[in-house]
Amino acid sequence: MKSEEFSVWLSAISAMSAAQRAEALAALEKSAADAAPGMKTKSNRSEDALGTTGVKRVERQGCPHCASREIVGWGRSDGLLRYRCKSCRRTFNALTKTPMAHLRKREKWLAHARAMIEGRSLAKTAELCGVHPTTAFRWRHRFLRAPADDKPRTLNGIVEADETFILESFKGRRSDLPRAARKRGGTARHPGSYQDNIPVLVARDRKGATFDAVLPQDDSASIAAALTGIVTPGNHLVGDGGKPLAAFARKARIPFHAVPAPGKPTPEAPHLHINNVNAYHSRLKQWLNRFNGVATRNLPNYLGWRRALEAWGQPLDPPKWILGAIGNGPYQHLTR
Ligand SMILES: [Zn+2]
Repeated sequence: MKSEEFSVWLSAISAMSAAQRAEALAALEKSAADAAPGMKTKSNRSEDALGTTGVKRVERQGCPHCASREIVGWGRSDGLLRYRCKSCRRTFNALTKTPMAHLRKREKWLAHARAMIEGRSLAKTAELCGVHPTTAFRWRHRFLRAPADDKPRTLNGIVEADETFILESFKGRRSDLPRAARKRGGTARHPGSYQDNIPVLVARDRKGATFDAVLPQDDSASIAAALTGIVTPGNHLVGDGGKPLAAFARKARIPFHAVPAPGKPTPEAPHLHINNVNAYHSRLKQWLNRFNGVATRNLPNYLGWRRALEAWGQPLDPPKWILGAIGNGPYQHLTR
C-alpha cells in the first residue's frame, strides 16, 4: 500500500465505532499471525497467567524498553512468559512498564476484572476474589490507572459538550478535612456551579467517542486546557449556551451552536442537540450512585471506568478489561 493511502486508512481509525475497531483489530492480529508463522508456532505455548492477553500486547507493541520488534522467547517467570529483546538485550514480560507490573496474585485478576465489569462494591469484590477489602481497593485503582488516561485524542464532526457537577467528597481522608465529613455520599445540594460541586466536562461525538475531564473550575480556561486539540475548528461544537463553553469555542474559532433549551433543538436544525451527552451524564451519575460518593481525588479513575465500560461495549469479558488495565484500552491511548 502506498504511504498516502496508508495515512488515509490510518486517519479513518478515529471514526470507527468500538465494534468496528474490535473487528479491525481481530483482522490485523490474524494477518500478523499469518505473516509471522514462526511467532505462531510459539503461540501454541502462548498462554500464561494472563491468558493470551499478554502475548497479544507484546506482539502489538514490541519491546517496552526500546520498541524494537526483534524479540525472542526467554522462558517463564512468576507464571508469565518472558521475552528478550535482540536490540537492547533486556528481558521483559507483558506487564513490564504497565501499572500492573508489581501487582501480585495474578490468578485472581480475572475474577477482579469481572467484578469491575459488573460494578460490584468493594466488599463484594473482596469476597468474590478472596482478598482483603484494602487489597480490593488498591487493585481497583491500579486497574484504573491506564483506563483513566485512555481517551480519544480527537473527536469527529458534530461534538456535543456539557458540564455536569458531582458533589465534592473527601471520602477516605481522615484528617485535614476542610469541613465536617458528610455521611455516605450525598447528592449535590444545588444543581450547577457551587463551591462544593466538582465540574466534569463531557464531550461526545456522534460516533460515540467520549472525552471527559474533571475541571479545576468551570471556566473557559479550564475547558480550553481540556479540549484543545480534541475539538478543533473542523468540528461543530454544540452546547447548552453556558458561557464557559461558548467563550472557549469563540477563542478557539470553533463553530459553536447553542441549544435554546435542553432536549429542544430548533426545528430548522434538529440535529444540533445535546441529547447524547445529557444521556451520558445521567448514565454516569446513576452508575456512580452505587459507590455512595467517590473521593474527588479518585474521580478521574471512576470517569475512566465508566468511559471504558461504554467504549468497549458488549460483550465485554475479563480478558478485555485486563487489556485495558495494561494500557491497551478501547481508545488505544498507550501508557508508558
Ligand atoms: Zn529493546
